[in-house]
Formats: sequence, structure tokens, C-alpha cells
Amino acid sequence: MEKIYLDYAATTPTDPQVVEAMKPYFTDIFGNASSIHAFGQQARKGMEDARQILADFLGARTDEIVFTSGGTESNNTAIFGIAHALKTKGNHIITSQVEHHAVIEPAKFLEKQGYKVTYLPVDKAGLVNPEDVKSAVTKETILISIMHANNEIGTVESVPEISKIAKEYKICMHTDAVQSVGHIPVDVNELGVDLLSLSAHKFYGPKGVGALYIRKGTKISPYLHGGDQERGRRASTSNVAGIVGLGKAVELCRQKMDEEGRFQASLRDRLIKEIPEKISDSYLNGHAAKRLPNNINFTFAYIEGESILLNLDMLGIAASTGSACTSSSLEPSHVLLAIGLPHELAHGSLRITLGRWTKKEHIDYLLEHLPGIVDKLRRMSPLYEGK
Ligand SMILES: *Cc1c(COP(=O)(O)O)cnc(C)c1O
Repeated sequence: MEKIYLDYAATTPTDPQVVEAMKPYFTDIFGNASSIHAFGQQARKGMEDARQILADFLGARTDEIVFTSGGTESNNTAIFGIAHALKTKGNHIITSQVEHHAVIEPAKFLEKQGYKVTYLPVDKAGLVNPEDVKSAVTKETILISIMHANNEIGTVESVPEISKIAKEYKICMHTDAVQSVGHIPVDVNELGVDLLSLSAHKFYGPKGVGALYIRKGTKISPYLHGGDQERGRRASTSNVAGIVGLGKAVELCRQKMDEEGRFQASLRDRLIKEIPEKISDSYLNGHAAKRLPNNINFTFAYIEGESILLNLDMLGIAASTGSACTSSSLEPSHVLLAIGLPHELAHGSLRITLGRWTKKEHIDYLLEHLPGIVDKLRRMSPLYEGK
């Protein structure tokens, strides 16, 4: 049985071309990129080429890119780095209720240190209202962090509008763009952000490597202290092979993203149309139009998302209930609660995310089997009795 992977928002396979580009950096070009000798300089060249590719892709300068260990570190660096650097200026941070845990948890940690955090609500589609951002600003506000695209429901936030407000009040603006980079256009100037997080394993690069864009002139403290790598902004011996892989992954996305996005959006739209036709009491989560091309998220009343996943898994289909990070806990998704789903509905959701190797046949197969699974589970569900 062919296994069908429909969980690209959790992680993506590393593109074979990326693996090929990385290989020499484990063996022949193994040098420490900070070393003066030829081994080091060759490694450095690979790393700096990747930095150039990424900077060009984001509309940034090379000295505005700091390589990190991934999305989580980039978000932590942005939030703690600004909170520390600007602590004499103010102690208030604005974010939203639908952020990834890698933003929410650092924000909660800062609350324990005496910072004040506003977690803005969202509408039914998951959108933060820029007017709410404006109303939340105080004289103490030092950072606004609103994600670009949501990892569970795919909603693309109004980052340019929110950045305008940040600029108006001279507040630093960060966006978690881990789900959007490599999937939809991301340009730091069009978005108007000062800080932007990304992660290679979400766009066909290796795990454990990412970057933080830091606009020139932004006051920020380092998160890791040690050597003077990354111009003193992130200590630790550079993960050269990983960074080269990130660069190659960006290059491939630059070439393929538009066409892939169009194809994935066509499959997405087919699922969004046909699932409710085939399955009663199913509701789309997220925005109908302001949405990642590869995200589908449905709630099926009366049943548990986990049971759907297990049944799909038996048929060789890998999907998700929402966030891979919380799938081991029994708490319903904070994102689905924030968009207003009652607890019982927030438990019955299924996230399907498409990617580079998704075929039309995979979607045919899913559509063929999903209605039967939902029907079977509902007939076993006490909540469904009498319907
Ligand atoms: C995956 C993800 C992260 C975490 O990135 P890692 O590289 O896995 O640490 C952060 N934010 C969003 C929106 C994500 O989807």
C-alpha cells in the first residue's frame, strides 16, 4: 500500500536535491566556518551563498539574516531579544490568541517576569483585526508579534496593515512566517516587518535550521551568548550543512512556488467543495479566501479528530488534528477555541495539508474513504444518537 502524506504543515520531506547539496558539507567541506584556513573559508562560502539566496528571496540585505536552529529559536530570539533590549522603554507586548506555541510560551514566560502581554482575539475566520491592535497599544508597548499564516487553519493575517500601525507608533513588529515562507510570497518590505521567523523543514529543507530576519537598526539582544558567529547575534558553531540545505530549499521554492501553489490550491478548493457535499455537519475552519494554498481544516460534529486520524492511518493516509505539538495532549486546540468553536466541536477537527509530492490521486483516495470513516465513527458516537 502506498503511504499518502497529507501533513506538510507539521514537516516536509527534505527535497532530494537539497540532500545532494548538503552532502559535501558533511565530508569534504567540513570546516568550521569561523576558521581562517581554506577548510573554514570553503564552508563559509557555502553558508554565505545561502545567506544571499535567502536575503534575495525575502527582499532583505544579507546582514539582516541570522541563521538559527529553527522557527522556535527564531521566535524566542525575537521576543526575548526585544523584551530585553527595550526593557527600559516599556514592558508591554501585543500578540494574538492564535499564535504558535513558540510565540505564546515565550510571551507567557515574560509575563512571569513582570511584562504585560495582550493576546488579541480573532474573528470566526481567525483574523486579527488591525483596529484591535491599534486599541491595544499603550505607551509601554515595545513589540507587536502577529503570525503571517496560521499553522492549524491556514488563515493569512493582515500583516501589512498591522505593521503600518506598528510603524505609526514606532513599535517593533515581528511576524512568525514559518508556515508561509516557501509557500506564498514573503517580502519583508511588503509586509513592513522588523523581524521575521522562518524554518527550513517547513519548505523541503532539513530540520533544525531556520533564520531570523532582523531589519537593520533594530535594537535586539542576542539569545545565545558565546562566540561571535552571525555578527555577534547568535553564538554557536554554524550548522553549515543545514544552512546550505536551507539555501537550496529556498532556491527550489523560488523556482516552483507559484506553480505548486496553484496546483495545491486547486486540490484544496476541491476538498473544500466536496467534503461538505459528501459529509453532513462538516464545517470549514479558517478563512475562505485569505488562506494558505495547501491548508484544509474541517470540523466534523459528533466525533473526535483523533479517531478520524487513526482510521485514516490504517488506510495509509497521514493527516493531523491541528498542531503536531499538541496532538499528544487531550486539550482542544487553542486556535479552534479562539475562532469560537465550542469544546465538543474543537475536538472533531481534521487538518489536511498538501505539498510538493501531493497528487490528484491522493485526494481522490481521501475523498473516497473519508465519508465512510466519519459515518462509521458517528454511528458509534453517543453524541450522534437520534440524528
Ligand atoms: C513549525 C512552526 C514553528 C516551529 O518551528 P520549528 O522549526 O519546528 O521550531 C513555529 N511557528 C509556526 C507557525 C510553525 O508552523
